[in-house]
Amino acid sequence: LYVDTALGEGVAVALDGNPAHYLIAVMRVKAGDTILLFDGKSGEWAATARDIRKRDLVLDCVAQTKPPEPVPDFWLCAAPIKKGRIDLIAEKACELGVAKLQPVLTRRAVVDRLNLDRLHAHLVEAAEQCGRNMLPELAPMVKLDALLRDWPDGRHLFFADETGGAPIAEALTAHPGPAAFLVGPEGGFDPEERAAIRAHPAAVPVSLGPRILRAETAAIAATAAWMTLNGD
Ligand code: SAM
Repeated sequence: LYVDTALGEGVAVALDGNPAHYLIAVMRVKAGDTILLFDGKSGEWAATARDIRKRDLVLDCVAQTKPPEPVPDFWLCAAPIKKGRIDLIAEKACELGVAKLQPVLTRRAVVDRLNLDRLHAHLVEAAEQCGRNMLPELAPMVKLDALLRDWPDGRHLFFADETGGAPIAEALTAHPGPAAFLVGPEGGFDPEERAAIRAHPAAVPVSLGPRILRAETAAIAATAAWMTLNGD
């Protein structure tokens, strides 16, 4: 179970709301029962339930049961797209193991604001479902020019470009190490944006095949391909 409290030996976690309802009414937890917790940063912890009331309870963190898992050094930089579709990207990116989800605002984006709380909830749900104890970082949205300007040295910027690029298997094999994939919105990147990305020293234009994929398909396929070669 995910909790929004930094876990450690002796930490008491007071829960109410949905997580408490789940434990008390659905799981029928009794005083003394052991619950496995994670906070997205400190691995997995065993905690003992006490002070169980109708709508709240306390969990005493006893011991770490799993260390923080290793996270492959991969960022997914994706333009915001419609609700539902961006939620799918967040869910699958978390399942596939990304270290960071970086929303990127581009000129043709039809969505220019994101509900980060909702996306965080999808990341948490996906982490619980797939047994991941490290949550991906969810970065605030940045504009494309700022992303390119502040790009860190030593990280490949694979650019998913439906107008052409190296075949993905070739590009990934030729560029090992820390990486990110940049995927555009429903309407794609405009020609100026495409030229600016291609001119960036870290950029590696990549084709995901001859068909035009929906943005969420491209994001998921690119992440899965990188993880197949580099993920643990
Ligand atoms: N501009 C395009 C159009 O309207 O015809 C479509 C853009 S596509 C729906 C959204 C994003 O997915 C693109 O910006 C690109 O990053 C990625 N993408 C889709 N198909 C791709 C492919 N075959 N190879 C590489 N990237 C692709």
